[in-house]
Amino acid sequence: MIQTTFLNDVKCKFCGKELRQKEMLFDLEDKKFTIKGQIERCDCDRSKEYWKRIDYEKEQEEKRLELQRKNNIIDRLYSNSKMNIRLKSYNFDNYKVNPDNQKALNKAKKYAEDYIKNNKRGSLFITGGVGTGKTHLAASIANELIKNEIPVVFGTLINLLNDIKDSYSSDGYEKEGYIIERYSKINMLIIDDLGKERPSEWTLEKLFTIINNRYENNLPVIITTNYNRDKLRERLANNKNYEIADSIISRLYEMCKGIAIYGDDKRKELV
Ligand SMILES: [Zn+2]
Repeated sequence: MIQTTFLNDVKCKFCGKELRQKEMLFDLEDKKFTIKGQIERCDCDRSKEYWKRIDYEKEQEEKRLELQRKNNIIDRLYSNSKMNIRLKSYNFDNYKVNPDNQKALNKAKKYAEDYIKNNKRGSLFITGGVGTGKTHLAASIANELIKNEIPVVFGTLINLLNDIKDSYSSDGYEKEGYIIERYSKINMLIIDDLGKERPSEWTLEKLFTIINNRYENNLPVIITTNYNRDKLRERLANNKNYEIADSIISRLYEMCKGIAIYGDDKRKELV
């Protein structure tokens, strides 16, 4: 920029006062060109009122666009999360608290808060019997993360891996690689009710790959299960695949802290 001048040919439309407008003259590679700046704002009352309204409207529009941008991201995250309407409806406020699960609720809340505010990314085991609200707590964490624009995938093992099986019929192994990669790299993977279904060797191998990749990439996983370590091992091994089941379980126990939901269970709390 080589020169700045002020133009004086603009008048306030309210009071008629001459207003200045900056004009900058540039000289770039022997080409001269000018850029006009904004017209000065007049300081008369009507002009002030006018600009106050314009600024307010602009601010509102920016807020609206920002909200829309955020909602679009959240909608997309939800549609990729595999979460259904029931899971989306779970939050910490509609969890039915009793003396046995109060501590679990507090820990789950703290976990979500630590992840979002302090970027802490530990893994979590949520254990408890049927109907104690493990899924509710895990989904509440998922919903908190998604509302803060953090990508989550949530599903049972079969539900997650069926996507791979489905892919064999259409795009073949390329899609399998894509899905494994996605589950290995997404910010948060939640596997609900692990051990409920007895997995095939194929399923176990995929699970090990995913868990191991996440371990290597220092990415968290949240597991909910009815079972303690020994029972989970039995369920996963399904009477034959003890080697893979052991590999998975030792990885998981290395990664995860535990939240046990109710007191009358003999399950050991891991924390
Ligand atoms: Zn004026």
